Amino acid sequence: MQYNRHSGGYRQNRNPNRFRSFGRKRIDSRLYIKRADEFTKIEDIETKNSFTDFGLNAELTKNIKLKGYVKPTQIQDQVIPQIIKGRDILGIADTGTGKTAAFALPLIEKVLKNPNERILIMAPTRELAMQIKQEFRSFTWGLRVYITLAIGGSYLGEQIKEIRRGPHIIVGTPGRIKDLGKRRVLDFSKIDTLVLDEVDRMLDMGFIGDIKSIVDQTPKSRQTLFFSATVDSKVERLIDTFLNNPVKISIKSPNPSSHVEQNIVRVGRNMRVEKLKELVSEADFKKVLIFGSTQITVERLATTLIQTGFRAEGLHGGKRQNVRQKIVKSFKENQINILVATDVAARGLDISDITHVINFDEPNNYQDYIHRIGRTGRGDSKGYALTFVE
Ligand code: AMP
Repeated sequence: MQYNRHSGGYRQNRNPNRFRSFGRKRIDSRLYIKRADEFTKIEDIETKNSFTDFGLNAELTKNIKLKGYVKPTQIQDQVIPQIIKGRDILGIADTGTGKTAAFALPLIEKVLKNPNERILIMAPTRELAMQIKQEFRSFTWGLRVYITLAIGGSYLGEQIKEIRRGPHIIVGTPGRIKDLGKRRVLDFSKIDTLVLDEVDRMLDMGFIGDIKSIVDQTPKSRQTLFFSATVDSKVERLIDTFLNNPVKISIKSPNPSSHVEQNIVRVGRNMRVEKLKELVSEADFKKVLIFGSTQITVERLATTLIQTGFRAEGLHGGKRQNVRQKIVKSFKENQINILVATDVAARGLDISDITHVINFDEPNNYQDYIHRIGRTGRGDSKGYALTFVE
C-alpha cells in the first residue's frame, strides 16, 4: 500500500474544517498521519536470561516451548526472577510487551511449589480477563493448576460453582470480584498474591472504590504485582498504599502504535459506507477492525457489510457476553475477517494478525485513538490505520 494512496497525504491538512468543533474538542487530524517505525523484533532485543535460566518446573518450561516462545521479552527477563524471589512489582508497561506471561509463569511456578497458594488477578475488562485466563491455560497443560473467571455479564451461578471448587487462580473484573466477596463466595483474607493489571484503565473506568475495598480485605503479608501503562497522581497514590518496597521495571518500548502506518481518508458522511466497502474489498485488507462510535452505528455497519456479502460481525456492549465471546473467537479463527466494534468492546482485544484498523467514526480523544490503532501492527507485522475525516 502506498503511503498517500487514500488521502493525498500531508497536503490535505490545509482543510479549514480541521479544528471544527461540535461541542467537544476535536483531534487535530494531522495526528492521524504517521509513518511506521522500523522494526525491533523480540529476538533482537538483548535479554540476560533464557527461559531455562529461571529454574521453572520442567513441564512448565516444556509448555513455554510448545507455545512457541523462544526467548523472554524484556519485561519477562526482568520481572520473572523478582516475582520468584517474592518481591512486589511495579511494572510500567503496556500490552504488547509480554507482561501477561511475565506474571503468569512465576505465579504458576508458585502454585506448583505450594498448591495452597491462592492468587487473585484484577483486570479492567472481561475480554482482558479472558485473555489472561487463556494465557495461563496455555502454560498449565498437564499441570494441576486451576484457574477460573469472575467477570460480569456471564452466568453468576456457574462462576460461583467453579469458585467453590477452590481454584488456585481467579481472574476477573473488580465489580464482579467485589460482588462475589459480598456474597461470601470469595474470601479475600485467603489471598496470597494479588495482581492488578492495567491499573490506569481500571481507574479510568471508575473501579477505584471496588479495588480499594477488595485490597483492604487482603492480608498485608501478600505479594502484590502492579502493572500500569501510565502513572499519574491517582495511580501513584495506589502504588504508595498497595505496594511494599516494589522492584520497579519500566518498559517504554515497543510503543504499541509504532509499527502502524497511519493515514487519513477524506470522505463526506454520506459517502462513508461506500468508501468503507471499497476499502475492505481490496486484497490487502485481510483482517480488518472497524471502529464505530455507537452501538447503533456498529450494528448498522455490520448488517450492511454482511448484506453486501462480507464476512463481518458487530461487537458492542449491548450484546450478551456469550455472543460477544463467540464473535471474538470467530474473528480470531478467521471465520469472519471484518469486525465492527465500539471502543469499549474492543478494549484488550489481543488478535495478532489484524492488518487494518479503520476509524469509521473518529475517536473521542487521542488516547482512545492510540488504543484503537494498537490493535494492529502487533508482534512482528506492520499494521495500517485509516481514519475517516471530513
Ligand atoms: P502481552 O503484552 O502479554 O499482551 O503479550 C503480547 C503478545 O506477545 C501476545 O500475543 C503474546 O502471546 C506474545 N508474547 C509474549 N511473550 C512472548 C515471548 N517471550 N515470545 C514471543 N511472543 C511473546
